[in-house]
Amino acid sequence: MAYKTLTTSSNDCWQQQMSDAVKSVAALCNYLELDSTQIFSNNAQLNFPLRVPKSFVDRMEKGNINDPLLKQVLPVSEEIQTIADFSLDPVGDLTAMATAGVIHKYHGRALLINTGSCAIHCRYCFRRNFPYTEFQLNIQKQQQAIAYLNEHHEINEVILSGGDPLLLSDAKLGELIKQMKDIEHLKRIRIHSRLPIVLPARINDSLLKVLTETNKQLIMVVHCNHVNELSAEVGVASEKMRHANIILLNQSVLLKNINDDALQLGLLSEKLFSFGIIPYYLHLLDKALGTAHFEVSKATAILLMQQLQAELSGYLIPRLVEEEAGMKAKTIIF
Ligand code: SF4
Repeated sequence: MAYKTLTTSSNDCWQQQMSDAVKSVAALCNYLELDSTQIFSNNAQLNFPLRVPKSFVDRMEKGNINDPLLKQVLPVSEEIQTIADFSLDPVGDLTAMATAGVIHKYHGRALLINTGSCAIHCRYCFRRNFPYTEFQLNIQKQQQAIAYLNEHHEINEVILSGGDPLLLSDAKLGELIKQMKDIEHLKRIRIHSRLPIVLPARINDSLLKVLTETNKQLIMVVHCNHVNELSAEVGVASEKMRHANIILLNQSVLLKNINDDALQLGLLSEKLFSFGIIPYYLHLLDKALGTAHFEVSKATAILLMQQLQAELSGYLIPRLVEEEAGMKAKTIIF
């Protein structure tokens, strides 16, 4: 079947763009003029199917099997290999589950798993094997989560995570934010989301109204790995968030043959900063089962950071970190 165009009208609402996301490797490869039989594995899709918004596909280069955005989403046979040290729960989320949907690892921060859904399926995801249906918040669990936050006065920051919390409807997000309003010891709400990058249409006026009806400081930590992800629409979405007084940070994952290059990392930092987004963390890969082919060694990562340090202003250099299960904070490597 011919797959003529993937171009998404910027007028399409984000829900329409979500339902129009590409879910077939054949369609993706047809558009990108690639031979699907040579490059992907159907078995790799069984538990974690392909999903990518069309506007993200439009940022990929046609005919380039090594496109850095394509490599983040294409299921390949390496994913089904079992490699020592790569596990289902690499960062110990399940053992840090304080109550359903609340992960409490670090002293002053707690993380809420709001949804298991994502707009894009990143093949390197550390939660790609997470049992979301068991833990994501429904009305009853949300009440338990809010009660937990109320009782734990040491928690001054809540992180909305997932999945992608911005896939919740405005009404559900609004209700959650409203319920946190009266928790006095809570100073900040931090949202971890890839949507401002992969589906910037989500950042619309009604979302910003809902998010800013809070007495807490708001931080949006976006997730971008490569400068090619930063389209003009992402720039517009970033500007809207900044005008709504939302602090913007970025976290990236260091990925083999995608962004393990000082020049590319430098370009990413420069462009993020031009959009008002501070490069915050560069993560070493979390060792989730199925992701070993993305791994960059710690020694190589340190060399890259040294190269960045020689080239960039300090505020453009993200901190190189790794997360180890059971630790009370992330380990800062550089
Ligand atoms: S958006 Fe985040 S949680 Fe979702 S698949 Fe990608 S890395 Fe994982």
